[in-house]
Amino acid sequence: MAKIFCVANQKGGVGKTTTAVNLAAALAQLNQRVLLVDLDPQGNATMGAGINKAELKSSIYEVLLGMADVATARVTSETGGFDVLPANRELAGAEVEMVELDNREKRLKDALNAVDAEYDFMLIDCPPALSMLTLNGLCAAHGVIIPMQCEYYALEGLSDLVNTIKKVHAKLNTDLKIIGLLRVMFDPRMTLSQQVSSQLEQHFGDKVFKTIIPRNVRLAEAPSYGMPGINFDPSSKGAQAYLVFGAEMVERIKTI
Ligand code: ADP
Ligand code: MG
Repeated sequence: MAKIFCVANQKGGVGKTTTAVNLAAALAQLNQRVLLVDLDPQGNATMGAGINKAELKSSIYEVLLGMADVATARVTSETGGFDVLPANRELAGAEVEMVELDNREKRLKDALNAVDAEYDFMLIDCPPALSMLTLNGLCAAHGVIIPMQCEYYALEGLSDLVNTIKKVHAKLNTDLKIIGLLRVMFDPRMTLSQQVSSQLEQHFGDKVFKTIIPRNVRLAEAPSYGMPGINFDPSSKGAQAYLVFGAEMVERIKTI
C-alpha cells in the first residue's frame, strides 16, 4: 500500500513545490516507486519534473472530473525517475465544476486508489490556499508535510492550517496526521532564523524534521532546466539536504 503525503501550506512561495519535486526525486534514488501529484493549477511541479504542461494529453483536471483515470493521465519524469500526475491552468476550473459532483472532496482519493499497488509513495503538491483542491489532497493523504521558512511571520497562518487538518481528521479522514514541519530556505547566518528554528522545536518537538533545507541557489535554478535540484547539481548543499530528508522520511514512515 502506498503512503500518501500532502506537501501543504496555504502561503505561497514557502517551498512546497521545491520540496515535493526534490523529495520525489530523493525517494526515487532510494529505490522507492513514487507518484508526484500536481494539485496546483500553476503546474510548477509538472514543469519542475521536466514535463511540458502545455502539451499534456490529459491531466489531473480530467481525473478529478471523472473524464480520465490516473493510469491514462500520468507521465514519467525522465529527469526525476518518478511518475507525475500533471497539472496545468485547466485545473483552476475544476474547483467550480466539482461543486455539482457527489463526494467532491474525495475525488482524488478515489482516483489514486486505482494505482495504489504500483507505488510506495505518492506526494501531493498542494496549491497555496485552503481550497476544495487542497481539501481533496488532505482527504487522500495519510499525512501532511509542512514546509516553513524560519522568519518572523512563519507561525502566522500555521494555526489555520493545523485547524483545517484537525477538522478534516475529525470529519473526513481519520488517517490524516501532521507528519512534520520542514525548515526550508534556511540561512544559518541569520540570528532570527536560529531563533525561530528553536522556537519551532520547543513548540512542536519531534514533529519538526531533523533535516534542515538550506537556502541554495542551485535548487532555485533547477526548475528552469526541468530537473529536480537533487539531480541538477547532486553535490550542492540543497541537493544533499533533500537526499538526507528522503532518508528521514523513509525512516519516519516506519513509525506512523
Ligand atoms: P511554493 O510551491 O510554496 O509556492 P516554491 O517551491 O515554488 O514555493 O518556492 C518559491 C521560490 O523559492 C521558488 O523560486 C524556488 O525556486 C525558491 N526556493 C525554494 N526552496 C529554495 C531553497 N531551499 N533555496 C533557494 N531557493 C528556494
Ligand atoms: Mg508551488
